[in-house]
Parts: sequence; structure tokens; C-alpha cells
Amino acid sequence: TGSGRFFVGGNWKCNGSTASIKQLVNELNSASIENDVDVVVAPPFLYIGQVIGSLTDRIEVSAQNCWVGKGGAFTGEISADQLVDVGVKWVIQGHSERRHVIGESNATIGKKSAYALSKGLGVIACVGEKLEEREASRTTAVVFEQLQAYADEISDWSKVVIAYEPVWAIGTGKVATPEQAQEVHAAIRSWLSEKISLEVALATRIIYGGSVNRSNCAELAKKEDIDGFLVGGASLKGPEFVSICNAVT
Ligand code: PEP
Repeated sequence: TGSGRFFVGGNWKCNGSTASIKQLVNELNSASIENDVDVVVAPPFLYIGQVIGSLTDRIEVSAQNCWVGKGGAFTGEISADQLVDVGVKWVIQGHSERRHVIGESNATIGKKSAYALSKGLGVIACVGEKLEEREASRTTAVVFEQLQAYADEISDWSKVVIAYEPVWAIGTGKVATPEQAQEVHAAIRSWLSEKISLEVALATRIIYGGSVNRSNCAELAKKEDIDGFLVGGASLKGPEFVSICNAVT
């Protein structure tokens, strides 16, 4: 690990029901999580009220997305202002499923992130290359382009956590090796140093996501520039997610 406190996010995606989320929250509430780790969970919008009303204050709540600006006549959308109103502290932006399944552009993701930050939310800013891009040796080119789109809109990086999530590793069971992840994390930190500032490069947490589980988290967490994880599938299992939160102990 490198910068700051270890950070672990659980992205529940479009999973769960009132009953299963009640059980997951109970498991998280009764778990013992080390002091020196920030833990965040991202339920589907519909269950955010339930989670905020029942989850221990030890864990903060994130949304998985939000509208690009202030609310209004935008059917089906949720604004950052509304997230803040109900007690949400974070929002995930630029997840690969929103980029590649739903079709969000780099520019939209940058704008959404800046608006969310302006309302006081923390942003988990995702980046990551597809398999064909990695195979064409375009990994850092793609990641730097995605970072630049955030940088075009963001001026204050103090509440940004960068999540490096290679698309080929998300939900596939095919985790990046610690060396593969470290290589890109280090490149991201150098990019921040060169394009933003040394101070931001040193202070920004860069977390890894993509098939993280209880068996592979410890080796990844040892790497110098891996400051935490964004966890999908394994975050739906309370005890396993807690093991990942405690990976650095
Ligand atoms: C994610 O959705 O951010 C993710 C990393 O998913 P998984 O852990 O299931 O690969």
C-alpha cells in the first residue's frame, strides 16, 4: 500500500432485495473491521434509505451513479443533491458497466464527477482498459485518456479515490496479478504527479478492482501503489467482504 488510509468499497451493482440486504447489513454490523481502513458500500438506489437507516456509522454509503447536474425534468435520474440530502457520502463514477454497457462517455463521466464533488460527495473515479486494448499495448494510453477527462473537469482532488479496474478482470474471476496491477497503479501515480501535482499524486488513494476475493486480496494489498480495493461480487458476502477490508492487517 502507498498513500493514505486503506480504502475498500463494496459495489453491490443491481443485486439484492429487502431481505438479502437486511442480512448483509446485519453481517457488516456485527463484523470487526480494523481501525485504519475506510469502508464504503454502494447499494442500488432503491435500498439506500434502508441501508443508511440500518448500517453502522463505521461504514459509509455510496451511490453507484448520479445525474450529471442539478435535478429537474430528467425522468429516471437521481441528482447528487438528493444523494447528499439522504446522507450518502460517495458516488462511483465511470464504472466499466456504465461506460461499456450503458454507453457513458469520458466527457459525461468527468462532468458528473465534478458536479458530485461540488456538492460535497466523495468520488470513486473508475478507469480501466478492455482486453483488446491491453493486448494492443494500449493500457496506459486508455487509462490516461480516462484520467484526463476527469482532470478536465475536476480541480479539487482531495475527495477523489481512483479505482483501476481492468475490464477483463471485472466479474470474470480473472484477477490481475499483483505485478500487473502495481504496474498500472504506478503509472497512474506518475501521471498524477506530472499532470496535476506531486502533492495530489502522493495523497490520492489508487484502489484496484476486478475479481478481488478473500484469497487474492492480501498479495495485492502488499504492493506499493495499491491503496485498497473496489469489490463487486465478493462484497455481497458479508464475511468475505470483511476479510478483504482487513487485508492489510
Ligand atoms: C466492480 O464491479 O467494481 C468489480 C470489481 O466487480 P468484481 O469484484 O465482481 O469483479
